[in-house]
Amino acid sequence: MKCVICNSENLQKREVEEKIKFGKDIVLVPVNVLACLDCGERYYDSKTLRKIEQIKARLKQQNLEVEEVGRVLRVLAKN
Ligand SMILES: [Zn+2]
Repeated sequence: MKCVICNSENLQKREVEEKIKFGKDIVLVPVNVLACLDCGERYYDSKTLRKIEQIKARLKQQNLEVEEVGRVLRVLAKN
């Protein structure tokens, strides 16, 4: 398989943290993806996409154990 963005063949399976927006919060989900080592593009297989959808559904049902790992900050417009 080649990267569709940069045509590189340097694709490698990696564990990354996918960011899911949930209301005002960001939820980090560890997933395995195929990542391009040259441009950073990530490729998700159908199993991973399903996992992400399931986690979104469980977040809505408040049926998922999560821990707080930090804050999300925003730069004020006056800056
Ligand atoms: Zn690439």
